[in-house]
Amino acid sequence: MRDQEWLNYRFDKIWELFFPSIPQKNVYIKFKGKWKYKFGHIKKTKKGTEIAINSLFQDIRVPEYIIQITMAHEIVHYIHGFFSDLPKMYQYPHKGNVVNKELIKRGFGYSLKQQKTWVKQEWLDLYNEIQNKK
Ligand SMILES: [Zn+2]
Repeated sequence: MRDQEWLNYRFDKIWELFFPSIPQKNVYIKFKGKWKYKFGHIKKTKKGTEIAINSLFQDIRVPEYIIQITMAHEIVHYIHGFFSDLPKMYQYPHKGNVVNKELIKRGFGYSLKQQKTWVKQEWLDLYNEIQNKK
């Protein structure tokens, strides 16, 4: 079951494996929203940095690599200094493709391709199915 514990465990593992030099400080993760065109977000709250993953991804038909790459994307914002206490490395979060460049550098190139294909071929149908069953 994709509950909070499941999510925390993966979050910690991905951080440890792919971002080992960056302290995982003052940041938490949760499922949130039922978005069609947004997979995750990062923002600052009173509790620290919040990384959210689309709640619809709790459905088991959403491949795990989609959740992983969404998490990794938001972690990259964090390490670039957006919504975290780290120094800001860029003026804008996405300009110049900085997130994907960082992801590729850290070994997510294949996941990015998988994600692109999945979004194009699977997501909208699955989104409609999930919405109709709830
Ligand atoms: Zn982003």
